[in-house]
Amino acid sequence: MRSFGTTIFAEMSALAAQTGSINLGQGFPDTDGPAAMLDRAVRAVLSGANQYPPGPGLLELRQAVSEHRREHYGLGYDPAGEVLVTVGATEAIAAAVLALCEPGDEVIAFEPYYDSYAASVALAQARLVGVTLRPLGGRFTFDPGELRAAVTPRTRAILVNSPHNPTGTVLTRDELAVIAELCQERDLVAITDEVYEHLTFDGVEHVPLATLPGMRERTVMISSAGKTFSVTGWKTGWVCAPAPFVTAVQTVKQFLTFTAGAPWQLAVAYGLRNETGWVSALRAGLQDKRDRLMAGLSAAGFEVFRPSGTYFVQTDIRPLGFTDGLELCRRLPELAGVVAIPTQVFYDHPERGSHFVRFAFCKKDEVIDEAVTRLKRLS
Ligand code: PMP
Ligand code: GLN
Repeated sequence: MRSFGTTIFAEMSALAAQTGSINLGQGFPDTDGPAAMLDRAVRAVLSGANQYPPGPGLLELRQAVSEHRREHYGLGYDPAGEVLVTVGATEAIAAAVLALCEPGDEVIAFEPYYDSYAASVALAQARLVGVTLRPLGGRFTFDPGELRAAVTPRTRAILVNSPHNPTGTVLTRDELAVIAELCQERDLVAITDEVYEHLTFDGVEHVPLATLPGMRERTVMISSAGKTFSVTGWKTGWVCAPAPFVTAVQTVKQFLTFTAGAPWQLAVAYGLRNETGWVSALRAGLQDKRDRLMAGLSAAGFEVFRPSGTYFVQTDIRPLGFTDGLELCRRLPELAGVVAIPTQVFYDHPERGSHFVRFAFCKKDEVIDEAVTRLKRLS
């Protein structure tokens, strides 16, 4: 694991803290989740939910997840055997890859990809094969021919993240259909990272890959409360999949963490059942923040890509005369008092993303405005 060093999020958040810069790097909101849900967590602690929950998670949360999947997506998952609570989506991804891949297997992921994918695949001694998302008409997408060509006899799984961090792309039904067809034709497992499932804009709706014909039975679907309820520090996620997959993932999970924190589980169960309105308001508020940051970044001279989901704006720094995003991000505190994330670290082929930089907009309006004022110093 030596080559993995420190994650870019830790590096950039430390840089922000050291330099007193505005942190638009690591994606975490600067406001709290729904008050009643926070209160539920406090009550859970005070009423004794403080010992190990069962390995698969508290039944109350597994039930709430199952109801939520049915109501939102028409997908049925049995709380007993088809739902597994994990320590965030990060553990779910790692446990799924470790459970389903043999050494030497290949796992396809769209690059740029969330950094834990490469590490999880390396832990499994498998090989990550990146298929590049490129801007086309202002939106990042993949070439179906390139995806098809990436599949070999060793391909075991495809990791699909939509809404996509860091590009903000929400895969369309047509794009998902290409992936679904390939999975069925080449007998691949889909591991779907849907942590931003509720954070979509402009009326775009997230479509889970598992809802496409023939896909529920070969999809390991992963979600997290962190982004949905603005509680990234709770590290509470879940896997929904047919029982043999869940059994495999749980077999790994039990030796990584055994189980996930109990009080959060009760609170998230409450959130899933009662805070749909809060999530809709979060989504509408984030759309305004997206527009605010996009307008500011454009005015500061960046080329800006409009995200349909997540809470990140992808930019091209070349109009400002810069070419290397990593170098710029390391100098950005000194140049402008702002921290951002260099997208190139999320590529198998870093040269394809060297000129992209990601900014997070899950921040108070005044924080976004101040960051924009400072970034205008760059031009
Ligand atoms: N996948 C993606 C695409 C993410 O952006 C993140 C960060 N929220 C995660 C997974 C990890 O989620 P969690 O904090 O629940 O582990
Ligand atoms: N998911 C968040 C991001 O992409 C942060 C994740 C992390 O800190 N590991 O910025």
